[in-house]
Amino acid sequence: MKHPRRLLAAVAALALAGTAGAVVVTRSGDAPAGSTASALQAPGPSHELSDAEKKSRQHEVDLLLGKRATAVLKGDLHGFLAAVDPKQPKLVARQKLLFGNLRKFGFSTLKYFTADDWAAPKLAEKYGPSTYSTRVMMRYQIAGVDPKPVQTDLGYTFVRRDNLWVLVEDGAIDETLSRDGHRQPWDFQEVALVRRGKVVVVVAQRELALGTTIARVSQDAVAAVRRHWPRGWDGAVLVVAMPEPQVMATLWTSGSGRGWTIAAKAVTLYEGEQLGKPSGPAVGSRIVINPALRKDLDEDLLVHEMTHVATVPIGPLVPLWLAEGLAEYVRCRSVEDDPEWTVDPYRKTVKTKYLPGMKTLPDRAAFDANGERAYGQSWWTVEYLADRVGIKKIAALYADVAVHGTTEAAYSAILKRHTGKTPAELTAAVKRFRG
Ligand SMILES: [Zn+2]
Repeated sequence: MKHPRRLLAAVAALALAGTAGAVVVTRSGDAPAGSTASALQAPGPSHELSDAEKKSRQHEVDLLLGKRATAVLKGDLHGFLAAVDPKQPKLVARQKLLFGNLRKFGFSTLKYFTADDWAAPKLAEKYGPSTYSTRVMMRYQIAGVDPKPVQTDLGYTFVRRDNLWVLVEDGAIDETLSRDGHRQPWDFQEVALVRRGKVVVVVAQRELALGTTIARVSQDAVAAVRRHWPRGWDGAVLVVAMPEPQVMATLWTSGSGRGWTIAAKAVTLYEGEQLGKPSGPAVGSRIVINPALRKDLDEDLLVHEMTHVATVPIGPLVPLWLAEGLAEYVRCRSVEDDPEWTVDPYRKTVKTKYLPGMKTLPDRAAFDANGERAYGQSWWTVEYLADRVGIKKIAALYADVAVHGTTEAAYSAILKRHTGKTPAELTAAVKRFRG
């Protein structure tokens, strides 16, 4: 979903770092789903091959890529490295590391194939006339996490040597692919994967202990979502907590005006996604933790993000106030599952500061203008509905509008059907609601 997700809040948070018993005021947030497409240079000719020659070149490289995918699935390092330029020890070492990382993810399916070729004149100059720079699609499915294959892209450069294609560059055209979000957790240092229930956490190998902590907290967060969200969710999710800010995201601030620091975001993966442009229905999500905050993460924040993970696959047409209000509702309920914690300060802020001036249910512009106010109003709207119609009916409303809320009129009719109120009537009732 493309919206600034959560920020805030002046609430009691469950600190991950072990400050149990203390009331921690957090200020954190999340942001638009990961990879936004960047302005791309159009692919252009870097050579003067005939169409037939280009086709045959692509076919040969596709065969090579197919062998590499098979090598990953079978654990065949030798096969994976077969096409890597042996004259480049650094490249070989990087590819070896990549292979080791890929193996740890446990792909149930994996395919690499060429997409469009790219003009990369500097590489052609460096490697000669046979240089072939291409965007490669990686289509994969992590066992136990992805219900369907998802895909990402990478940039490879090959040259023709002794009648064979040789991989000579594994990242030289990355910068032209997409500005943010297309680098994956396996693209950097050695990773460790910590599995707990259906949660998989990926961290740097040297931060294995952090992975264990985040896995435990993530599993608690999954349990909290399952407690408060009545539609089924199996809790399968990949949580990325790598030190590198380039992994799946580069933007860690959000909001116009003063903005805020984003602590984590739920990045939605779409079927057939390329270059960060959704081209199909949502398949699933990753939760990506802000590298700067990865060691100091609050469980309630994960609850908010995991609510998005649980609900995004239902459909894309959910109004922002409902998506964010529900995530805040589940987060706050989970905080108060522990009798020692309360969100009373948040309640007070909403009632005294955010409700008096409320004119409509918060939309995108309202979130951009003042995130804290918009999240608070959205949360309170869902609290009101939970009080009046119950969370099961909210879930029915969500499922209905997510699929059928195609127009403003359709949305209003669905809202009326499930809550008995128009948007204006709901706004007025929310303003009066004291909790
Ligand atoms: Zn959110």
